[in-house]
Amino acid sequence: MKWISDLIELIFPRHCIVCGEVLSKNEEDLCLNCLIALPLIEKEQNEELEKTFRGIIQVEKAASYLHYHKGSPYNRLLHLLKYKNRPDVGVRLAIMAGNELKEKDFFKDVDLIIPLPLSKKKQRMRGYNQCDYIAQGLSQVSGIPVDTSCITRTRANETQTHKTREERWKNVEGIFTVDNPQKLAGKHILLVDDVLTTGATIASCASAIIKCGGKVSIFTIAHSDNTHR
Ligand SMILES: [Zn+2]
Repeated sequence: MKWISDLIELIFPRHCIVCGEVLSKNEEDLCLNCLIALPLIEKEQNEELEKTFRGIIQVEKAASYLHYHKGSPYNRLLHLLKYKNRPDVGVRLAIMAGNELKEKDFFKDVDLIIPLPLSKKKQRMRGYNQCDYIAQGLSQVSGIPVDTSCITRTRANETQTHKTREERWKNVEGIFTVDNPQKLAGKHILLVDDVLTTGATIASCASAIIKCGGKVSIFTIAHSDNTHR
């Protein structure tokens, strides 16, 4: 049956998400060149990331997988994940990131993975929450269960552009409610989001978990170096 798949490849060539080159049969979504050149975040930069939250909330560990530079072709990965109905891209990236994190003992002591919830309205419009798929990928690698029943986002926050640091924090205050506080008490929660910019939204969610007596670590697929966004 090999000739059938060869024929399909010929008629419907698949293209690399990042550079657009035709993929060979053993490449999936990304060509080897783009895979090798992934803008990975180094360990030291993740230590910097932990500092982002210092003085605001107590975070156990924080990690991002990729740099998010304005104009980078790799941003297409996140664009597909968020806006083009390709949640599978989230699973794939999370599995890749998860394998690296596992080696660094990042999942040690984590009890539950919680994807950052979207507001009901936004989820309805998009049809899915991209963070659910990132959580799924991490869960596949780590064996840690995912929970989507504990936290609700009661409103979407307005755009953070042109806001001062203080305004941004105020803007996200109380946008999450915990429906199941007893499930979080005494637990170590890994909160998961797609892109980290100012960190204000995810910190607001983390703070709701901490108030219930839980501990929080944070993972995002990408870390934007444009903190003004
Ligand atoms: Zn490529």
